[in-house]
This record gives sequence, C-alpha cells and structure tokens, in this order.
Amino acid sequence: MSAEDGSKIKSAASILLKGGTLVSEQCPKCGGVQVRFGGKTTCINCGQESKEEKPAQAVAATDSAAAIERRISALAAELADEKDLAIQKQKADLLETYLRILEKMRSLSVR
Ligand SMILES: [Zn+2]
Repeated sequence: MSAEDGSKIKSAASILLKGGTLVSEQCPKCGGVQVRFGGKTTCINCGQESKEEKPAQAVAATDSAAAIERRISALAAELADEKDLAIQKQKADLLETYLRILEKMRSLSVR
C-alpha cells in the first residue's frame, strides 16, 4: 500500500464522518467495509470507488457497528501475527480508522 492509498483511507473515513453511510456489501476488490456518500461508494480499506446504478443497501447503525467490531477483532488478531513492520503499520492505521468510525457511530446512534 502506498502513501496515496493511505490518504484514500483517510478520505473514506472522512466521508463517513461527513454523514456518509456504511453499506452492507463488502468491497469487491478486498472485502473491506465500504461507505456511501453522494451516490458514490468508497472502500475504507483500499480506497476503491464505484458508482452504482442502484443504491447500495444501507444497513442499520447497530448492524454496521457490529460489522465494524467484527472487522476490528479480525484485524487485531492479524496484527498480532504480522511479522512485516510495514504491513503492521498499515493494519494499525486501518484499525485506528475503524475505531474512530465506531466511536463516531456510537456518538450518533440514538438508544
Ligand atoms: Zn477495498
């Protein structure tokens, strides 16, 4: 992953913070979590963007949070086993992004 990809991840996260929604479909490229905003779907993981004809299914906030939590658990486990420092850094950054999103979602969700 290049520095450019890193900025894509940040922009995907910022889309969510601006009011984008998480979509239930995973990224076709990497299986990462995707966000949707202004008719565009962006992968948080790899930055892959797609414009779809039909609107992607937005999932309920609680389901999204659960999906993110699963993602965080999986990523934390991968991180523990990762030997390559560069990949560790990438995964740590991604983990941080997920945690920030989760935090944001929790602050927005009405219980
Ligand atoms: Zn992706």
